[in-house]
Amino acid sequence: MEGKLIIFSAPSGAGKTTIVRHLLDRFPQLAFSVSATTRPPRAGEVDGRDYYFISKEDFLHRIARHEFVEFEEVYSGAFYGTLLSELERIWKVGKHVIFDIDVEGGLRLKKKYPGRSLAIFVQPPSLDTLKARLAARGTDSAEKLEERYRKASRELDYAPRFDHILVNDELEKACAEAERLVGDFLSGNPENQSR
Ligand code: 5GP
Repeated sequence: MEGKLIIFSAPSGAGKTTIVRHLLDRFPQLAFSVSATTRPPRAGEVDGRDYYFISKEDFLHRIARHEFVEFEEVYSGAFYGTLLSELERIWKVGKHVIFDIDVEGGLRLKKKYPGRSLAIFVQPPSLDTLKARLAARGTDSAEKLEERYRKASRELDYAPRFDHILVNDELEKACAEAERLVGDFLSGNPENQSR
């Protein structure tokens, strides 16, 4: 079996993490790609489950050794990346990989694995909603919030380059639609293949 890639990208605050968790509950054949990052863990985050939390020095060594299929300095000073070893680990046990990744990283993955990836852009209903969601999370300083918001506004322009745009207006509806898209893709329904 050739392992597939299901890529969820979105501006921060669009609700993609909730949708990805929902899909992991529904599809036992999916496994979450745990990224490596240099940002510190937030309260409740677990190393090896949410991220591999590594030092910047370790991250740079891994870049030099070509261990990443993609990586990016998503926010100033904070690196995030997908390790090839992570994809191989998941494919080896016969599962498909699901990603929660930023917009540029998502497009890079799709380009690297054409024909076996489904790339879905989760769009917040409006920039105002996005701003409110980011603030409600309460995990970031005002300065970090502003940086996330600015990046999110820029990222909306990338939506048309994805296979599908999923507007997250009502979470329940968005989860159901995501389930349908992923179900069709995994079962090989030709109407829903990646472009
Ligand atoms: P957070 O700090 O909120 O966990 O994540 C910040 C952003 O980095 C999110 O948009 C998240 O999807 C993205 N991200 C997480 N892992 C990766 C990765 O491996 N590569 C890239 N390019 N972005 C990632």
